[in-house]
Amino acid sequence: METKPLREAALLAVMALAAAQAAGMEIAHDRQPAATIVIEKAPAPDKGGRSDWDDPAAAKVLVDWVKKITDAELPIAHAAPAGRPAIFVGASALKAGLKLDDIKSPTNEGMRVLCDGDRVLLGGQCGAATVKAACRFLEELGCRYFMDEPIGEVFPRTKSLSVGKLDITDQPGFLYRSIWGSQWSGNSLWKVWNGAGGLSMGMGHSWGGYVRRNLFAQHPEYFPLRLDKRVESEWLCTSNPDLRKLFAENLLKAIEGGATNPSISPPDGTTYCECPACKAQDDPNSLEPSSGKVNMTNRYCDFFDFLGRQVAAKHPESILSFYAYADYTQPPTRQEKLPPNVAAWIAPIRYCRYHRIGHPDCPSRTHLAGLLDGWAAVASKIGYRTYNYNLAECIVPFSMYSVWKHDIPWLKAKGCIGVNLESLENWEIYGPHMYLSIRLAYSPAADAAALMDDYFARFFGPNAGPPMKQYWMAIDEAFDKMKCHSGSFFAIHLVYTPEFLAKTKALLDQAAEAAKGDIAYAARVAIHTEGWRNAAEFIALRNAMNQGDFAQAKKLYDALHDRNETEYKKGYGNHYTLHYLERFVGTHVNAGADATAPPAKVLAVLPDHWRLAYDKEEEGVQKGYAKPDFDDSAWKQVATFSNTLDAQGLPDLKTVMWYRTRFQVPEKHGRLMLFFTEVDGNPIVYLNGRETDPGKKRAPFEIDITKVAKPGENLVAVRVDHSKITELFLGGIIRPVLLIERP
Ligand SMILES: [Zn+2]
Ligand SMILES: [Zn+2]
Repeated sequence: METKPLREAALLAVMALAAAQAAGMEIAHDRQPAATIVIEKAPAPDKGGRSDWDDPAAAKVLVDWVKKITDAELPIAHAAPAGRPAIFVGASALKAGLKLDDIKSPTNEGMRVLCDGDRVLLGGQCGAATVKAACRFLEELGCRYFMDEPIGEVFPRTKSLSVGKLDITDQPGFLYRSIWGSQWSGNSLWKVWNGAGGLSMGMGHSWGGYVRRNLFAQHPEYFPLRLDKRVESEWLCTSNPDLRKLFAENLLKAIEGGATNPSISPPDGTTYCECPACKAQDDPNSLEPSSGKVNMTNRYCDFFDFLGRQVAAKHPESILSFYAYADYTQPPTRQEKLPPNVAAWIAPIRYCRYHRIGHPDCPSRTHLAGLLDGWAAVASKIGYRTYNYNLAECIVPFSMYSVWKHDIPWLKAKGCIGVNLESLENWEIYGPHMYLSIRLAYSPAADAAALMDDYFARFFGPNAGPPMKQYWMAIDEAFDKMKCHSGSFFAIHLVYTPEFLAKTKALLDQAAEAAKGDIAYAARVAIHTEGWRNAAEFIALRNAMNQGDFAQAKKLYDALHDRNETEYKKGYGNHYTLHYLERFVGTHVNAGADATAPPAKVLAVLPDHWRLAYDKEEEGVQKGYAKPDFDDSAWKQVATFSNTLDAQGLPDLKTVMWYRTRFQVPEKHGRLMLFFTEVDGNPIVYLNGRETDPGKKRAPFEIDITKVAKPGENLVAVRVDHSKITELFLGGIIRPVLLIERP
């Protein structure tokens, strides 16, 4: 196979571009620098407060990338050499006549790039905005930065480089734009280039920082009343006037100490005060649907309202953020508008993972649309903090193109001030939407489809671009149309059907063929193919597991795990890739392989379909649900391991559920075990009406039924206590149950 280096291939493509620009200002000529970068000796302090990005940093970005394009290393000087082209950066551009003060950016992030054919002036209202201006200038030269990896850098290759007239002004659409994740928390060039940044804002759990627990001995009345006793906690009795005063004083001190936009979020947990004054603020008719508890939002909004007013009097510029979270996720039911300096950050952790806000087939995200509307009505500032991946599973290609295309402009229209995107740097499975999400966070009015067209064409090249676009759009459409909302590994098979795997593989093969001869394009197709292989291999191992063939499932699991470990060491994926795979798949596959290893023998995989009843009154035992002769014909038939209850359209009730089915036992047998691969909830298994040993929640377990089983038909009933949620609604019995014989 002949491979032509990328540089040479791109060189040809860019010659035409260079010719077209020949009339403009020369940057490099025949691999030698033609222009000089000019920066001030001592630039003014950064108004944005981020000292890591400044004029020298912007100059360095220009030097690095022009070198990538031309091999020429542009000199950096403090004055423009006479008669030579110059690129004035930041403070030097301002001195040379660049105007920035007309750009309206509340965060001081306006930026401008000008080229009149003789010189380039670029700069921003803060250091990061100047770096952004340099990146924007490089984009005009054909550069892109699609992935935060060397392979994600796209730039033309040419010996000579010129630039024509430019007049670009821009500023971000949100005050706060954060894209981050475990092992990806830094402030990388990729993030700044594509639009991350803005105000520094605190929003995490915070109360303990303002009112110390050690005040408890002196002022127990500041702390929550629980079961008629004040308890020492980071939680507080927020209706107490003295506590409020103290909290506000310490909040002001924090602001004066440098925390310009501090958090006022309550602690984690649920130690809500039960004193009459606090309780009187709650609306007993408003319940938090995810827990069934009385909504705590009214009392905390009243407290935040107080804090907002206290702070506004002295520091009106400070924004106080809190998470709308846990039992205070719903908007308040009685509340005048919150002061303008208080921001509610909606963190929909307990909502559907797959669909856009207000998706017509998604009850969860439709509810969320109403919730956001409710918050937008009472808070003049709302923010959105969410996941940019499929929570608790990160091996399979997943697209949020439809989500971001809709949600970011929608949030902007609702007055949202920022997006906080918790992401995983798994480019091979999330690449396109990660890029899109942060580009739209900077420019909510941008054309998402055009951004993606540019992405596919430049990242994969003119030939591999179209099949790669088809590949990702097919994945996006499949997730968008999926009528299932629960996360982790339990919905993958609904998208990656045999037909879909074949279709997407054909597109990748087509792209690989089209990318042949270009090292970079081919490598980019290849890493995406690794992502696809994860999906194919997971489906194969799931099939083996569902057939009771755990030896085969383990073989497939080990191969999938090892390949992902290798990829992780190469820099792809994330520590969660392996962690989630081990925790949610490996544990079960390995236990199944151990339980079924010879001389043990799998006599049967119990039926996929069981009878199901919800038992809200917890009367199942009295009503005889466990008994063999109980008539369960009125109960609903549901699939267990082949689909989640959510995917079968059943409601997610935090209650006890009962499952029943029958299976055959041979006349002669050795020891008999029932192996449960996974039950989501605390299970109690009854065989032929008799309670057996307790099972385990979400972990494999087996029960010795040798003494209770009888030849012929046996009835197994499982009581699943699903009153405490683990993941979003999966079920009860979510993986196969095996009848195993041991000698
Ligand atoms: Zn209280
Ligand atoms: Zn959904």
